[in-house]
Amino acid sequence: MSKPFSLYIHIPFCLHKCSYCNFNSYATAQIPERDYVAGLLSEFDYYISQPEWQNRAINTIYLGGGTPSLFSAAAITKLLTQIFKTTVVDDLVEISLEANPGTVTYDRLLGYHEAGVNRLSLGAQSFSVKVLAFLGRIHAPHHVEEAVAFAKSAGFNNISMDLIYGAPQQSLADLQYDLKEVLRLAPAHVSAYSLSLEKGTRLYKAWRKNLFSVPRDGQVIRQSHELVTVLEDNGYQRYEISNFARPHREARHNQAYWSGGDYLGLGAGAHSYLADTLPTPKRLGQRWSNVCDPAKYMEQATSRGQAVAFKEALSIKEAIFEFFFLGLRKITGVDLEEFEQRFGITADRVYGNAISLLNRGGFIKIEENRLKLSSKGLLVADSVMESFAAPKVNSAELSLKPTRQTLSPAEPVDACGLPQAKLPQAIGAEWKL
Ligand code: SF4
Repeated sequence: MSKPFSLYIHIPFCLHKCSYCNFNSYATAQIPERDYVAGLLSEFDYYISQPEWQNRAINTIYLGGGTPSLFSAAAITKLLTQIFKTTVVDDLVEISLEANPGTVTYDRLLGYHEAGVNRLSLGAQSFSVKVLAFLGRIHAPHHVEEAVAFAKSAGFNNISMDLIYGAPQQSLADLQYDLKEVLRLAPAHVSAYSLSLEKGTRLYKAWRKNLFSVPRDGQVIRQSHELVTVLEDNGYQRYEISNFARPHREARHNQAYWSGGDYLGLGAGAHSYLADTLPTPKRLGQRWSNVCDPAKYMEQATSRGQAVAFKEALSIKEAIFEFFFLGLRKITGVDLEEFEQRFGITADRVYGNAISLLNRGGFIKIEENRLKLSSKGLLVADSVMESFAAPKVNSAELSLKPTRQTLSPAEPVDACGLPQAKLPQAIGAEWKL
């Protein structure tokens, strides 16, 4: 059997749209649970019968959103049961589900656990009433504590918590209190996002009207430093720019993304990536995304098994940048030998100037043939990554032949919020070098 892959399932429904949210999510009181599950299963059946995905085990499943915890335990059970029936699932499969603390009950969490979900990702964001109100969250701080208690009683021993810092209403003391609460509730994993203002969100519009001002650079960097210090001092290892885990509790699903593994995305706006598994001419990987609108998605997925809106094969430059961009997110960095094996050229040859400049500036370091961000580089991670955005590639030096097959060139890849967009923003990402 060939290499296993990861499965992402997007559930785009929420009770209320948070002020900062630019994900592909829709506030609705009427969730078309049955029809949506039917679309997901029809889409899954379609892909799993294709040669690229057939006879491959699934080793991680991630139910993200939106608010997957709005779906009943019966719906999640139906979905997972059908997936387990149709394909081989790794014995040690990691199955994560994102839950909004304001939407869970003990019974519902028990049902998810019995369905096979073994990792719960709680969108705590903050334990401050004023910060939660500013973010437009539907839950109160006590809901997080209740959700953790329900989850533990239901059998979950792998709980992750999302935190936001650098919000306009958030002081350093607020963040310190958040961290104290996190340590008290002791999740196995913490993801920490610095708040970013995304166009189209309520928050962005309010900022344009000068209804609030953003925190100063120094304040956000100080919060980031506090967060890293407190978590590391308390046994959480930082293994990715914004992710911290107790030993052996790293998120395997996200690690698969950062390591360039194949993933199949189901659901409205979901993205998929397939590496170079196709025959000659060898390709550098291809990715595609589904229509964003849930109604269109359900109609297309149910009637023809797929709802693709955009598809492209990666160019050499895109593949090289993606390798660097994803690799640098990991604290262990980019494996330079793997780079050379994959692209048939050294990273120095492609990036020589950028590498030596960043190295001299102390933003990156090279240890044991791995190129990684230094502590200084971690604070300005996005800017460092931008330095790798334009690899100097002479196609004649490479044996790879990129092909491009854009189905819908007018639609940008992240038209409705990538699953990848749910990956944390770089800590201090907004600060330029
Ligand atoms: S942030 Fe999460 S809960 Fe809030 S609207 Fe977006 S997807 Fe829904």
